[in-house]
Amino acid sequence: MQPHASEIVDHNNNKQELVDLFLLFLDKESVLFSVEDMSAYECDGLSAYRRLPWIVVLPNTLDQVSKILKTCHAKGIPVVARGAGTGLSGGALPIDNGVLLSLAKFNRILEIDAENRMARVEPGVRNLAISQAVQAHGLYYAPDPSSQIACSIGGNVAENSGGVHCLKYGLTVHNILALKVFTINGEMLELGGAGLDAAGYDLMALMTGSEGLLGVIVEVTVKLLPIPEMAQVLMASFSSVESAGEAVAAIIGAGVIPAGLEMMDNPAIRAAEDFVRVGYPVDAAALVLCELDGSPDQVRDEVERVHDLFQRCGADKIRAAQDEAERQRLWAGRKAAFPAVGRIAPDYYCMDGTIPRKRLGEVLKRIAELAVQHKLAVANVFHAGDGNLHPLILYDANIPGDLERAEQFGGDILELCVSVGGTITGEHGVGVEKINQMCIQFSVAEIQQFHAVKHAFDPDGLLNPGKAIPTLQRCAEFGAMHVHQGQLAFPDLERF
Ligand SMILES: Cc1cc2nc3c(=O)[nH]c(=O)nc-3n(C[C@H](O)[C@H](O)[C@H](O)COP(=O)(O)OP(=O)(O)OC[C@H]3O[C@@H](n4cnc5c(N)ncnc54)[C@H](O)[C@@H]3O)c2cc1C
Repeated sequence: MQPHASEIVDHNNNKQELVDLFLLFLDKESVLFSVEDMSAYECDGLSAYRRLPWIVVLPNTLDQVSKILKTCHAKGIPVVARGAGTGLSGGALPIDNGVLLSLAKFNRILEIDAENRMARVEPGVRNLAISQAVQAHGLYYAPDPSSQIACSIGGNVAENSGGVHCLKYGLTVHNILALKVFTINGEMLELGGAGLDAAGYDLMALMTGSEGLLGVIVEVTVKLLPIPEMAQVLMASFSSVESAGEAVAAIIGAGVIPAGLEMMDNPAIRAAEDFVRVGYPVDAAALVLCELDGSPDQVRDEVERVHDLFQRCGADKIRAAQDEAERQRLWAGRKAAFPAVGRIAPDYYCMDGTIPRKRLGEVLKRIAELAVQHKLAVANVFHAGDGNLHPLILYDANIPGDLERAEQFGGDILELCVSVGGTITGEHGVGVEKINQMCIQFSVAEIQQFHAVKHAFDPDGLLNPGKAIPTLQRCAEFGAMHVHQGQLAFPDLERF
């Protein structure tokens, strides 16, 4: 049984008062305030940054969500929405004296409309659960983050998540039709609709990727696609990362849009092979996985063309999956690359930036030089087709200074992405992790516009404050919209 809030915390009257207010409409299991009960919520997937929540609430009706927001709004208490907590940029990190609002209990699929290829789901439904639920209708939900077994659709919308299939089928924003969202004052907005266009500003697109700063998503209508008749994957190994990069560019340049076009460098290949034993070429400098889907004729034609392009770009070996089980196995290694890398180092720090595809070779070379400079190893995994890099920086949090060096290395990689015309985020959002690099990516005028949008939705700045959009003062402190080398993001946070 949970102790009374005042027995275990800071005898803070505000906290006790808030707990009592919540208990007027939530049962006591849905209001957590003891250290033991809340420790599971102290971080998201970016576990280097942790902070114990002040209070966690777990509503299960829309009325309760509305009342929680109204209460916090009236009292001026910050609110952080949380889905499954798999985010990799600290977006769901708790805020001091703020309420963590978990949407985990909203896990029902409300409607499947197979005829119109859409489903209405609650925000806590897992990404993969949507495809599983509509499979019997021959349909699926295309965006497939590698975390799809765990991450929630509400979190996907809030991060505008991507995945292997996004090269061909688009990001979350391209695969949703409508949202129901509560504003900070507890009022519901219904955004989007079944049509391709709607009157007024495109607030649904604005809400997508807003990282919990503009509203709390409580329902998502997703688009469903027919499961392709056939899918085939080709795996090609290369003796240099540059030639693998050229093969990626050649495939896109030839007008083939694969359902997935992924690349791994040697350290990532070895870690994945050691973990899942799929027969990846452990001596290769890089491997490319290319999936083609569609009608059997189309797939056969594209497989031939891609095979030819791989050969012309100097692939050492090319392997085609012989059956569905082998296709799944070849993907399993790529999808498990993050946990696989987690087995070869005590800790890893997953970066996420995007670059123009044609700069891949030179960027990888520079990342290798930075690894030497920072004295840390790195394994690289990419959604290569759309230029989205995921360098995984290996470090040991028990070695003093290692995490700070990993952060500096990560910051350098993001600056590198911007300097070659790319962006500081491909799909993992900004959260707390990349807030300084926002100052590099955007001008003062652009950041002012972000603040104006935030102000329009949340004038008191109560939704997920301190995340995603830096203050101009913060940017100024880092020096004329540019981050000083070595400056840590969120220096006040506990580091592990
Ligand atoms: C092993 C691993 C692999 C991953 N692979 C990918 C990948 O391939 N592609 C990709 O894009 N991401 C990937 N991710 C990152 C992560 O899974 C996604 O960002 C995902 O969308 C987060 O969903 P979540 O439910 O866990 O959200 P959380 O982590 O709980 O929250 C993420 C952000 O969304 C906000 N939020 C959550 N729910 C709501 C809501 N209902 N209303 C308003 N705001 C909300 C939070 O405040 C926070 O800012 C990976 C993560 C891991 C750990």
